[in-house]
Amino acid sequence: MNSSSTMIKKAAEFASAMIEPNAAQWEYARCFPRDVFIAAADASLAGLIVPATDGGSDLGPRGMADIMRKLAAADFAFAFSLVVHNNLAGTIARYGSVEQKQRWLPGMLSAKKIGAFLLTETSGGSDAAAIRCHARPQGSGWVLNGEKAWISNASDADVLSVYATIAPEQGFRGIACFLIPADRPGVHRLEPFNLMGGHALGTGGFSFTDVSLQPEDLLIAPGEAFKAAMAGIDLARVNVASMCCGMLERGIEEAVGFAGSRQAFGGPISDQQGIRWMLSDAATDLAAAHALTEKAIDALEAGQRATIAAAHAKKFATTAALKRLADCMQVMGASGYRADVPLGRHLGAAKMAAYLDGTTEIQNVVISRSLFST
Ligand SMILES: Cc1cc2nc3c(=O)[nH]c(=O)nc-3n(C[C@H](O)[C@H](O)[C@H](O)COP(=O)(O)OP(=O)(O)OC[C@H]3O[C@@H](n4cnc5c(N)ncnc54)[C@H](O)[C@@H]3O)c2cc1C
Repeated sequence: MNSSSTMIKKAAEFASAMIEPNAAQWEYARCFPRDVFIAAADASLAGLIVPATDGGSDLGPRGMADIMRKLAAADFAFAFSLVVHNNLAGTIARYGSVEQKQRWLPGMLSAKKIGAFLLTETSGGSDAAAIRCHARPQGSGWVLNGEKAWISNASDADVLSVYATIAPEQGFRGIACFLIPADRPGVHRLEPFNLMGGHALGTGGFSFTDVSLQPEDLLIAPGEAFKAAMAGIDLARVNVASMCCGMLERGIEEAVGFAGSRQAFGGPISDQQGIRWMLSDAATDLAAAHALTEKAIDALEAGQRATIAAAHAKKFATTAALKRLADCMQVMGASGYRADVPLGRHLGAAKMAAYLDGTTEIQNVVISRSLFST
Protein backbone atom coordinates (compact mmCIF):
# COMPACT_ATOMS: atom_id res chain seq x y z
CA MET A 1 0.00 0.00 0.00
CA ASN A 2 1.21 3.53 -0.81
CA SER A 3 2.09 5.74 2.14
CA SER A 4 0.38 9.11 2.27
CA SER A 5 3.56 11.18 1.77
CA THR A 6 4.66 9.07 -1.23
CA MET A 7 1.24 9.53 -2.78
CA ILE A 8 1.30 13.32 -2.24
CA LYS A 9 4.70 13.47 -3.96
CA LYS A 10 3.41 11.35 -6.85
CA ALA A 11 0.34 13.59 -7.15
CA ALA A 12 2.56 16.68 -7.41
CA GLU A 13 4.60 14.97 -10.17
CA PHE A 14 1.39 13.98 -11.95
CA ALA A 15 0.16 17.58 -11.75
CA SER A 16 3.37 18.94 -13.36
CA ALA A 17 3.56 16.27 -16.04
CA MET A 18 -0.08 15.73 -17.01
CA ILE A 19 -2.27 18.62 -15.79
CA GLU A 20 -0.14 21.78 -15.95
CA PRO A 21 0.86 21.47 -19.65
CA ASN A 22 -2.71 20.67 -20.79
CA ALA A 23 -5.12 22.60 -18.59
CA ALA A 24 -5.30 25.80 -20.70
CA GLN A 25 -6.08 23.69 -23.78
CA TRP A 26 -8.89 21.83 -21.97
CA GLU A 27 -10.42 25.24 -21.28
CA TYR A 28 -10.20 26.37 -24.93
CA ALA A 29 -11.52 23.07 -26.22
CA ARG A 30 -14.20 22.95 -23.49
CA CYS A 31 -13.52 19.27 -23.04
CA PHE A 32 -13.47 16.68 -20.27
CA PRO A 33 -9.96 15.11 -20.48
CA ARG A 34 -10.95 11.46 -20.15
CA ASP A 35 -7.50 10.20 -21.20
CA VAL A 36 -5.78 12.15 -18.41
CA PHE A 37 -8.48 11.03 -15.96
CA ILE A 38 -7.54 7.43 -16.81
CA ALA A 39 -3.85 8.33 -16.38
CA ALA A 40 -4.77 9.70 -12.92
CA ALA A 41 -6.31 6.33 -12.06
CA ASP A 42 -3.12 4.62 -13.28
CA ALA A 43 -1.29 6.85 -10.75
CA SER A 44 -3.62 5.48 -8.01
CA LEU A 45 -5.61 8.72 -7.72
CA ALA A 46 -9.09 7.25 -8.32
CA GLY A 47 -9.64 5.25 -5.11
CA LEU A 48 -8.05 7.48 -2.49
CA ILE A 49 -10.56 6.85 0.32
CA VAL A 50 -11.55 3.32 -0.64
CA PRO A 51 -10.27 0.75 1.90
CA ALA A 52 -7.33 -1.40 0.82
CA THR A 53 -9.55 -4.50 1.21
CA ASP A 54 -11.67 -3.09 -1.65
CA GLY A 55 -8.60 -2.26 -3.76
CA GLY A 56 -8.20 1.42 -2.81
CA SER A 57 -5.41 3.51 -1.27
CA ASP A 58 -7.14 3.85 2.12
CA LEU A 59 -6.02 7.45 2.70
CA GLY A 60 -7.62 9.55 5.40
CA PRO A 61 -9.10 13.03 4.90
CA ARG A 62 -5.69 14.72 5.33
CA GLY A 63 -4.00 12.63 2.64
CA MET A 64 -6.85 13.29 0.20
CA ALA A 65 -6.95 17.05 0.92
CA ASP A 66 -3.17 17.35 0.53
CA ILE A 67 -3.29 15.54 -2.81
CA MET A 68 -6.15 17.70 -4.05
CA ARG A 69 -4.27 20.87 -3.03
CA LYS A 70 -1.35 19.81 -5.28
CA LEU A 71 -3.64 18.93 -8.20
CA ALA A 72 -5.72 22.12 -7.90
CA ALA A 73 -2.60 24.28 -7.97
CA ALA A 74 -2.37 23.08 -11.59
CA ASP A 75 -6.12 22.96 -12.39
CA PHE A 76 -9.02 23.16 -9.96
CA ALA A 77 -11.63 21.72 -12.35
CA PHE A 78 -9.64 18.55 -13.05
CA ALA A 79 -8.96 18.09 -9.33
CA PHE A 80 -12.63 18.60 -8.41
CA SER A 81 -13.65 16.06 -11.02
CA LEU A 82 -11.45 13.55 -9.17
CA VAL A 83 -12.88 14.62 -5.79
CA VAL A 84 -16.40 13.78 -6.99
CA HIS A 85 -15.28 10.44 -8.43
CA ASN A 86 -13.28 9.52 -5.30
CA ASN A 87 -16.13 10.48 -2.98
CA LEU A 88 -18.55 8.26 -4.89
CA ALA A 89 -16.10 5.34 -4.84
CA GLY A 90 -15.74 5.87 -1.06
CA THR A 91 -19.54 5.98 -0.66
CA ILE A 92 -19.95 2.71 -2.59
CA ALA A 93 -17.24 1.06 -0.46
CA ARG A 94 -19.00 2.28 2.70
CA TYR A 95 -22.68 1.71 1.89
CA GLY A 96 -22.71 -0.67 -1.06
CA SER A 97 -23.68 -4.35 -0.98
CA VAL A 98 -21.07 -6.96 -1.89
CA GLU A 99 -22.66 -7.15 -5.37
CA GLN A 100 -22.60 -3.35 -5.84
CA LYS A 101 -18.95 -3.18 -4.81
CA GLN A 102 -18.02 -6.03 -7.16
CA ARG A 103 -19.99 -4.48 -9.99
CA TRP A 104 -18.71 -0.90 -9.75
CA LEU A 105 -15.49 -0.52 -7.77
CA PRO A 106 -12.95 -2.22 -10.09
CA GLY A 107 -14.11 -0.07 -13.03
CA MET A 108 -14.09 3.10 -10.92
CA LEU A 109 -10.61 2.46 -9.50
CA SER A 110 -9.23 2.11 -13.05
CA ALA A 111 -11.44 5.02 -14.28
CA LYS A 112 -12.97 2.80 -16.95
CA LYS A 113 -16.16 3.92 -15.20
CA ILE A 114 -16.42 7.55 -14.16
CA GLY A 115 -18.73 8.49 -11.30
CA ALA A 116 -21.10 11.41 -10.69
CA PHE A 117 -23.12 12.66 -7.69
CA LEU A 118 -26.62 13.81 -8.66
CA LEU A 119 -28.30 15.91 -5.98
CA THR A 120 -28.88 19.41 -7.44
CA GLU A 121 -31.85 20.12 -9.74
CA THR A 122 -32.78 22.99 -12.05
CA SER A 123 -35.25 24.21 -9.42
CA GLY A 124 -32.38 24.90 -6.97
CA GLY A 125 -29.46 23.44 -5.08
CA SER A 126 -29.27 25.20 -1.71
CA ASP A 127 -32.51 23.71 -0.38
CA ALA A 128 -31.27 20.23 -1.21
CA ALA A 129 -33.98 18.40 0.74
CA ALA A 130 -36.63 19.94 -1.55
CA ILE A 131 -35.62 17.84 -4.56
CA ARG A 132 -38.36 16.84 -7.00
CA CYS A 133 -36.83 13.84 -8.76
CA HIS A 134 -39.35 11.15 -7.91
CA ALA A 135 -38.88 7.38 -7.65
CA ARG A 136 -42.46 6.07 -7.57
CA PRO A 137 -42.75 2.62 -5.97
CA GLN A 138 -43.77 -0.07 -8.48
CA GLY A 139 -43.73 -3.79 -7.70
CA SER A 140 -40.55 -4.56 -5.79
CA GLY A 141 -38.78 -1.53 -7.33
CA TRP A 142 -39.44 2.05 -8.44
CA VAL A 143 -39.90 4.17 -11.56
CA LEU A 144 -37.69 7.28 -11.73
CA ASN A 145 -38.73 10.58 -13.35
CA GLY A 146 -37.23 14.07 -13.13
CA GLU A 147 -34.14 16.07 -13.99
CA LYS A 148 -30.75 16.84 -12.42
CA ALA A 149 -28.63 19.90 -13.21
CA TRP A 150 -25.14 21.22 -12.42
CA ILE A 151 -23.62 17.77 -12.20
CA SER A 152 -19.82 17.49 -12.26
CA ASN A 153 -18.47 14.81 -14.66
CA ALA A 154 -21.91 14.67 -16.36
CA SER A 155 -20.44 14.80 -19.86
CA ASP A 156 -18.56 11.50 -19.37
CA ALA A 157 -20.03 9.81 -16.31
CA ASP A 158 -20.79 6.07 -16.54
CA VAL A 159 -22.16 5.50 -13.04
CA LEU A 160 -24.66 7.80 -11.40
CA SER A 161 -25.61 8.15 -7.73
CA VAL A 162 -29.08 9.66 -8.02
CA TYR A 163 -30.84 11.22 -5.04
CA ALA A 164 -34.61 10.96 -5.50
CA THR A 165 -37.62 11.08 -3.23
CA ILE A 166 -39.76 8.01 -2.87
CA ALA A 167 -42.11 9.74 -0.40
CA PRO A 168 -42.28 13.53 -0.98
CA GLU A 169 -44.48 14.07 2.10
CA GLN A 170 -41.64 12.79 4.33
CA GLY A 171 -39.19 15.57 3.38
CA PHE A 172 -35.52 14.58 3.66
CA ARG A 173 -36.52 11.25 5.27
CA GLY A 174 -38.18 10.23 1.99
CA ILE A 175 -34.98 10.68 -0.06
CA ALA A 176 -33.11 7.57 -1.24
CA CYS A 177 -29.87 7.18 -3.18
CA PHE A 178 -29.81 4.90 -6.24
CA LEU A 179 -26.74 3.73 -8.14
CA ILE A 180 -27.41 3.21 -11.85
CA PRO A 181 -25.50 3.01 -15.13
CA ALA A 182 -25.74 6.13 -17.29
CA ASP A 183 -26.80 4.03 -20.29
CA ARG A 184 -29.93 2.61 -18.68
CA PRO A 185 -33.04 3.10 -20.86
CA GLY A 186 -34.81 6.35 -19.98
CA VAL A 187 -31.63 8.13 -18.79
CA HIS A 188 -30.85 11.12 -21.05
CA ARG A 189 -27.53 12.95 -20.86
CA LEU A 190 -28.03 16.68 -21.42
CA GLU A 191 -25.64 19.06 -23.21
CA PRO A 192 -22.81 20.24 -20.90
CA PHE A 193 -23.07 23.87 -19.78
CA ASN A 194 -21.01 26.60 -21.42
CA LEU A 195 -19.38 28.27 -18.43
CA MET A 196 -17.07 31.11 -17.45
CA GLY A 197 -14.42 28.42 -16.93
CA GLY A 198 -13.70 25.00 -15.45
CA HIS A 199 -14.75 22.99 -18.50
CA ALA A 200 -12.51 20.06 -17.53
CA LEU A 201 -15.24 19.29 -14.99
CA GLY A 202 -17.74 18.36 -17.73
CA THR A 203 -20.61 20.01 -15.82
CA GLY A 204 -24.05 19.18 -17.20
CA GLY A 205 -27.26 17.38 -16.37
CA PHE A 206 -29.48 14.35 -16.86
CA SER A 207 -33.18 13.81 -17.33
CA PHE A 208 -35.01 10.61 -16.39
CA THR A 209 -38.10 9.30 -18.15
CA ASP A 210 -39.73 6.23 -16.60
CA VAL A 211 -36.37 4.73 -15.61
CA SER A 212 -36.89 1.30 -14.08
CA LEU A 213 -35.12 0.87 -10.71
CA GLN A 214 -34.69 -2.54 -9.10
CA PRO A 215 -34.03 -3.26 -5.39
CA GLU A 216 -30.38 -3.96 -6.21
CA ASP A 217 -30.05 -0.36 -7.52
CA LEU A 218 -30.72 1.09 -4.05
CA LEU A 219 -27.39 2.30 -2.57
CA ILE A 220 -28.61 4.12 0.56
CA ALA A 221 -32.11 3.70 1.98
CA PRO A 222 -34.51 6.58 2.68
CA GLY A 223 -33.91 8.06 6.12
CA GLU A 224 -30.13 7.52 5.74
CA ALA A 225 -29.43 8.77 2.21
CA PHE A 226 -29.79 12.50 2.81
CA LYS A 227 -27.75 12.31 6.04
CA ALA A 228 -25.04 10.39 4.19
CA ALA A 229 -24.99 13.02 1.42
CA MET A 230 -24.57 15.80 3.99
CA ALA A 231 -21.80 13.91 5.84
CA GLY A 232 -19.98 13.43 2.51
CA ILE A 233 -20.37 17.14 1.82
CA ASP A 234 -18.26 18.00 4.91
CA LEU A 235 -15.33 16.11 3.39
CA ALA A 236 -15.98 17.72 -0.01
CA ARG A 237 -16.03 21.21 1.59
CA VAL A 238 -12.69 20.56 3.29
CA ASN A 239 -11.26 19.44 -0.05
CA VAL A 240 -12.56 22.59 -1.77
CA ALA A 241 -10.94 24.70 0.98
CA SER A 242 -7.63 22.86 0.56
CA MET A 243 -7.83 23.25 -3.23
CA CYS A 244 -8.39 27.01 -2.86
CA CYS A 245 -5.24 27.10 -0.70
CA GLY A 246 -3.39 25.33 -3.52
CA MET A 247 -4.54 27.86 -6.12
CA LEU A 248 -3.72 30.84 -3.90
CA GLU A 249 -0.30 29.41 -3.02
CA ARG A 250 0.40 29.14 -6.75
CA GLY A 251 -0.88 32.70 -7.35
CA ILE A 252 1.42 34.15 -4.68
CA GLU A 253 4.39 32.17 -6.03
CA GLU A 254 3.80 33.51 -9.58
CA ALA A 255 3.27 37.10 -8.39
CA VAL A 256 6.34 37.10 -6.10
CA GLY A 257 8.48 35.73 -8.96
CA PHE A 258 7.18 38.38 -11.34
CA ALA A 259 7.53 41.27 -8.86
CA GLY A 260 11.15 40.35 -8.14
CA SER A 261 12.18 40.61 -11.78
CA ARG A 262 9.87 43.27 -13.24
CA GLN A 263 11.64 46.62 -13.43
CA ALA A 264 9.89 49.98 -13.09
CA PHE A 265 11.01 53.39 -11.82
CA GLY A 266 14.63 52.28 -11.44
CA GLY A 267 14.21 48.96 -9.63
CA PRO A 268 12.14 45.80 -9.25
CA ILE A 269 8.47 46.47 -8.48
CA SER A 270 8.95 44.30 -5.37
CA ASP A 271 10.74 47.35 -3.90
CA GLN A 272 7.38 49.16 -3.89
CA GLN A 273 5.67 48.98 -0.53
CA GLY A 274 2.23 48.88 -2.17
CA ILE A 275 3.17 45.67 -4.01
CA ARG A 276 4.76 44.11 -0.92
CA TRP A 277 1.71 44.81 1.21
CA MET A 278 -0.71 43.43 -1.35
CA LEU A 279 1.24 40.15 -1.38
CA SER A 280 1.65 40.18 2.42
CA ASP A 281 -2.14 40.41 2.82
CA ALA A 282 -2.51 37.51 0.37
CA ALA A 283 0.04 35.50 2.42
CA THR A 284 -1.86 36.21 5.66
CA ASP A 285 -5.14 35.06 4.12
CA LEU A 286 -3.43 31.92 2.81
CA ALA A 287 -2.03 31.15 6.28
CA ALA A 288 -5.48 31.68 7.86
CA ALA A 289 -7.25 29.59 5.20
CA HIS A 290 -4.70 26.83 5.69
CA ALA A 291 -5.14 26.90 9.50
CA LEU A 292 -8.95 26.68 9.23
CA THR A 293 -8.65 23.84 6.74
CA GLU A 294 -6.24 21.94 9.01
CA LYS A 295 -8.63 22.39 11.96
CA ALA A 296 -11.48 20.83 9.95
CA ILE A 297 -9.18 18.02 8.78
CA ASP A 298 -8.13 17.33 12.41
CA ALA A 299 -11.81 16.86 13.34
CA LEU A 300 -12.42 14.54 10.37
CA GLU A 301 -9.27 12.55 11.15
CA ALA A 302 -10.46 12.14 14.75
CA GLY A 303 -13.81 10.84 13.51
CA GLN A 304 -15.61 13.87 14.96
CA ARG A 305 -18.33 15.98 13.35
CA ALA A 306 -16.66 18.62 11.20
CA THR A 307 -19.72 20.46 9.88
CA ILE A 308 -18.99 23.86 11.46
CA ALA A 309 -15.21 23.65 11.00
CA ALA A 310 -15.68 22.65 7.33
CA ALA A 311 -18.11 25.55 6.78
CA HIS A 312 -15.63 28.06 8.27
CA ALA A 313 -12.78 26.64 6.18
CA LYS A 314 -14.73 26.56 2.92
CA LYS A 315 -16.19 30.04 3.37
CA PHE A 316 -12.86 31.64 4.27
CA ALA A 317 -10.68 29.81 1.74
CA THR A 318 -12.98 30.41 -1.26
CA THR A 319 -13.47 34.10 -0.39
CA ALA A 320 -9.72 34.58 0.17
CA ALA A 321 -8.86 32.83 -3.10
CA LEU A 322 -11.29 35.00 -5.06
CA LYS A 323 -9.98 38.27 -3.65
CA ARG A 324 -6.29 37.48 -3.39
CA LEU A 325 -5.91 35.74 -6.76
CA ALA A 326 -7.26 38.95 -8.32
CA ASP A 327 -4.60 40.86 -6.32
CA CYS A 328 -1.86 38.49 -7.52
CA MET A 329 -2.98 39.11 -11.10
CA GLN A 330 -2.90 42.85 -10.44
CA VAL A 331 0.70 42.63 -9.23
CA MET A 332 1.62 40.97 -12.53
CA GLY A 333 0.09 43.76 -14.62
CA ALA A 334 -1.16 42.68 -18.03
CA SER A 335 1.08 39.59 -17.89
CA GLY A 336 -1.20 38.16 -15.17
CA TYR A 337 -4.08 38.24 -17.62
CA ARG A 338 -2.39 35.91 -20.13
CA ALA A 339 -4.00 32.51 -20.53
CA ASP A 340 -0.64 30.72 -20.34
CA VAL A 341 -0.35 31.97 -16.74
CA PRO A 342 -2.81 29.92 -14.64
CA LEU A 343 -4.06 32.80 -12.49
CA GLY A 344 -7.06 33.78 -14.65
CA ARG A 345 -8.16 30.13 -14.79
CA HIS A 346 -7.70 29.90 -11.01
CA LEU A 347 -9.71 33.09 -10.47
CA GLY A 348 -12.63 31.65 -12.46
CA ALA A 349 -12.33 28.43 -10.45
CA ALA A 350 -12.37 30.37 -7.16
CA LYS A 351 -15.73 31.83 -8.21
CA MET A 352 -16.94 28.32 -9.06
CA ALA A 353 -15.71 27.12 -5.64
CA ALA A 354 -18.04 29.67 -4.00
CA TYR A 355 -21.02 27.62 -5.33
CA LEU A 356 -19.77 24.04 -5.08
CA ASP A 357 -20.93 21.87 -2.17
CA GLY A 358 -23.01 24.73 -0.78
CA THR A 359 -22.64 28.43 -1.50
CA THR A 360 -20.86 30.89 0.78
CA GLU A 361 -24.28 31.95 2.11
CA ILE A 362 -25.16 28.34 2.94
CA GLN A 363 -21.88 28.06 4.92
CA ASN A 364 -23.15 31.08 6.88
CA VAL A 365 -26.50 29.34 7.42
CA VAL A 366 -24.59 26.37 8.91
CA ILE A 367 -22.34 28.59 11.06
CA SER A 368 -25.23 30.76 12.29
CA ARG A 369 -27.16 27.67 13.41
CA SER A 370 -24.27 26.90 15.77
CA LEU A 371 -24.44 30.46 17.13
CA PHE A 372 -28.19 30.51 17.73
CA SER A 373 -28.88 26.75 18.13
CA THR A 374 -31.58 26.91 15.40
C1 LIG B 1 -19.36 23.92 -11.63
C2 LIG B 1 -20.40 23.34 -10.71
C3 LIG B 1 -20.38 21.97 -10.42
C4 LIG B 1 -21.35 21.40 -9.58
N1 LIG B 1 -21.33 20.05 -9.34
C5 LIG B 1 -22.36 19.48 -8.65
C6 LIG B 1 -22.46 18.04 -8.53
O1 LIG B 1 -21.56 17.29 -8.95
N2 LIG B 1 -23.55 17.51 -7.93
C7 LIG B 1 -24.55 18.29 -7.41
O2 LIG B 1 -25.51 17.74 -6.91
N3 LIG B 1 -24.47 19.67 -7.51
C8 LIG B 1 -23.41 20.27 -8.11
N4 LIG B 1 -23.35 21.65 -8.23
C9 LIG B 1 -24.44 22.46 -7.73
C10 LIG B 1 -24.11 23.29 -6.50
O3 LIG B 1 -24.05 22.45 -5.38
C11 LIG B 1 -25.22 24.35 -6.42
O4 LIG B 1 -24.97 25.29 -7.45
C12 LIG B 1 -25.28 25.03 -5.09
O5 LIG B 1 -25.73 24.14 -4.11
C13 LIG B 1 -26.23 26.25 -5.14
O6 LIG B 1 -27.45 25.94 -5.71
P1 LIG B 1 -28.04 26.88 -6.87
O7 LIG B 1 -26.97 27.17 -7.84
O8 LIG B 1 -29.28 26.25 -7.37
O9 LIG B 1 -28.41 28.26 -6.14
P2 LIG B 1 -29.77 28.55 -5.37
O10 LIG B 1 -30.02 27.51 -4.35
O11 LIG B 1 -30.83 28.85 -6.35
O12 LIG B 1 -29.37 29.90 -4.60
C14 LIG B 1 -29.35 31.18 -5.25
C15 LIG B 1 -28.73 32.20 -4.30
O13 LIG B 1 -29.51 32.28 -3.10
C16 LIG B 1 -28.67 32.09 -1.97
N5 LIG B 1 -29.42 31.41 -0.90
C17 LIG B 1 -30.16 30.28 -1.00
N6 LIG B 1 -30.65 29.96 0.20
C18 LIG B 1 -30.22 30.90 1.08
C19 LIG B 1 -30.38 31.14 2.49
N7 LIG B 1 -31.08 30.29 3.25
N8 LIG B 1 -29.80 32.23 3.05
C20 LIG B 1 -29.07 33.08 2.28
N9 LIG B 1 -28.87 32.92 0.96
C21 LIG B 1 -29.42 31.84 0.37
C22 LIG B 1 -27.52 31.23 -2.50
O14 LIG B 1 -26.40 31.33 -1.66
C23 LIG B 1 -27.31 31.81 -3.88
O15 LIG B 1 -26.51 32.97 -3.76
C24 LIG B 1 -22.35 22.25 -9.01
C25 LIG B 1 -22.33 23.62 -9.27
C26 LIG B 1 -21.37 24.18 -10.09
C27 LIG B 1 -21.36 25.66 -10.34
